This record gives sequence, C-alpha cells and structure tokens, in this order.
Amino acid sequence: MPTSFSEAFTNSVFSSEEWLRYTRHIQLPQFGAGGQTRLKQSEVLVVGCGGLGCPVLLYLAAAGIGRLTVIDGDDVELTNLQRQVLYTERDLGLSKASAAQHHLSQINSSIEIQAIDQAFTLDNGEALIKDHDLVIDCTDNFATRYLINDLCVQRAKPWIFASVYQFSGQCALFEPGGPCFRCLFPRMPTDIPDCNTAGVIGVLPGLVGSVQAGEAIKYLAGLATPTSNSLLLIEALDLEFRRIQLQRKSDCVACGKQQSFDQLKPDYLRISDTALSSKTREAMLISPDQFNRSRDGDQHHVVDVRSVDERQGFHIGGDHIALPEISEAILHLPRDKTIICYCQSGLRSLDAAQQLRDAGFTALSLEGGLVQWLQHQFKKGLQGQQQDAL
Ligand SMILES: [Zn+2]
Repeated sequence: MPTSFSEAFTNSVFSSEEWLRYTRHIQLPQFGAGGQTRLKQSEVLVVGCGGLGCPVLLYLAAAGIGRLTVIDGDDVELTNLQRQVLYTERDLGLSKASAAQHHLSQINSSIEIQAIDQAFTLDNGEALIKDHDLVIDCTDNFATRYLINDLCVQRAKPWIFASVYQFSGQCALFEPGGPCFRCLFPRMPTDIPDCNTAGVIGVLPGLVGSVQAGEAIKYLAGLATPTSNSLLLIEALDLEFRRIQLQRKSDCVACGKQQSFDQLKPDYLRISDTALSSKTREAMLISPDQFNRSRDGDQHHVVDVRSVDERQGFHIGGDHIALPEISEAILHLPRDKTIICYCQSGLRSLDAAQQLRDAGFTALSLEGGLVQWLQHQFKKGLQGQQQDAL
C-alpha cells in the first residue's frame, strides 16, 4: 500500500515547516538529516545569558536544539546593551532569562525554551545538569564555573567553557573521562577580575560565544570538535587564535582518584564569604543615595581617582587625582573634611580611600563607582516620570 502524504507527514521526525527551515543544515554532506535529528533530540543547559549567553542562545535556538534551558538571576541593565545583543532598551529592568526566552521563542517557536530566573547554585545545579545532555558555561564569575566543572565531572556530562577578559577570550570542551577544568586551573583564583570590573570590548563575547555555539552544534551532531581536551586562546587585538592540548592530571582534586566534592565546596562560597567578612570594607563604602545627600553640605570633599581619559569622557565633579598620584596629593587635601573617592566600578576608589585612611584622613569610597551611581540616577529618573504620569 503506498503511503499517503498525510501519513508520511505524521510519521516524520520533522514537520514540513521544520524540514524547510533547516534546509541549509540538511544540505551539508557532513551534517545531513541525521545531524539535524540529533540536534532536535538534544537538551542543552545554558548557564548565564549575558555577553556569551546571547550569541550562544541565538545560534542554538536558530539551529533547532530540541530543548534549551537558560538560567540567570540578573536583570537587564543599561551597561549590558553594549554587548548583550539579545536584549533591547524595552527589556531594561526585566529578568534576563525571561527576556531571553521571549526573544528566542520569536526566532524559533518549534523548540522548547525554559527560563529560570535564578542564579545557578549548589542547590539547583545538580538536578539541572542531570537533566541535560550538554552544559554551556556563559557565566562571568569563577565560583559558578568551578561549580559547573565539579558537577559535570560527578555526573559525567560534557560542558563547554568560555571566558572573556578585555581583548582576550578562551574556550574549551570538557568531555567525561578527559581532562577537566581543575586539571588546568586546580583552585579558584582570587586575584583575576571578571569582565564586570575589568572591561571587555563589546564584540569579543560575540566572537567567543559564536565559537562556543559552533562547537556545541558540531558536538551534538556528532562532528569533530577541535576544542575537545584543548584550550583555544583568542586574542582580539592582533586576531590570533592558538590551541593548547590539555592533559588529565591523576592528582586532580575534581576528576583524580582522591576527589572529594565536599572539600571543594568552599570554592563556590569564597566570593560571598570574602564580601561578608570584610567589615572594614563595608565601613568604607558610601551608597549612591548617601553620596547625593552628602553633596548638599560642605563637610565632604569629592575626588575622582580615574585616569585623565576617563575624566575627560564623563565626570560628576570633584577634584581629579588619578589613583597612582594619590599619595603625592595628600598634602593638598583638606584634613577637616571627609574625602569621598569615586572611580568607574568602585575598586580603585576603595584602594584610594584605604591609602587616605592610612595617612590619617576620614575617607569613603562610592560603592559600585560611577556605574552604580548612574544606574541609581536612571532609576530615580524613571520613578519620577512614573509619579508625574499618575
Ligand atoms: Zn581534573
């Protein structure tokens, strides 16, 4: 009996619309219908939907991954729009994961997309990793990255690491049984800033995230992936790509013979512990709101400790003394006032305030720097507009 058109249709892996949509994949001799079927049957967890997560999610959704889960606890902020190309100005203030889900479903409504508006933690991480075929690390902090590694080693799941820093990027695919992230970097570093504090050229996460997405699609479709057991180093300034072969270490604390997951837990908690235990640091901070109020009187003296370039680009008044010159400028600062230092993100100003305190001044640092102050001003402006409208 010849099969009718409608019967053939219901027995197919793909709908007619999907078959047409994925034509350019199916035409690839190395990919074909088999590769596209594997993508449709795949379940991928994307941790973080910031600079790296945006290109990764855009390409995985467009490529037809059957089920995508995206987890991120942050909201969309104005500083994100310089590189996080999935979001628009209308998304400001909305949860990133939900905003991402909304945009991705408009790109491909035939796939399942789940948004989790929470941070990836010890509590929710294990069940999520267990429930997916591949994990993609699009985070911007070390604690989450080490947690992903250790859970993936435990659960024998593959994951794709990537990171960006200023003009440099890295990417590696860690497969069960091969070297893990801790074979490469055994312990979490405490002295390397993430892109929240170090800056990153906007297009770099796009470049590195596209490499991650490409490796994910090839891996799931059963094609060769050069980043398997290799670390790809990308230098955007001179456009150089290098690959380093990774080796498994028998004494690795995560994948070696003596591994103990409980001993590794302090790594994921270290960042919050450091922040909480530092009472001195807290006492040196002034919030954007307190800062605004302090400027009404004449008991405070404001100092911008950024570079000349940054000062010329934008400032909110006060003296300009770049951080390297702060110790020489001490003689000229008023001792009868509280000195309030500010910089871009609040790190250099904290250093300056500490130097001034060591020299006997009463000194404070604007918490979160100009970035947090500007966000505070924008929020206040929005609230003012909403009240005017009532
Ligand atoms: Zn290892």
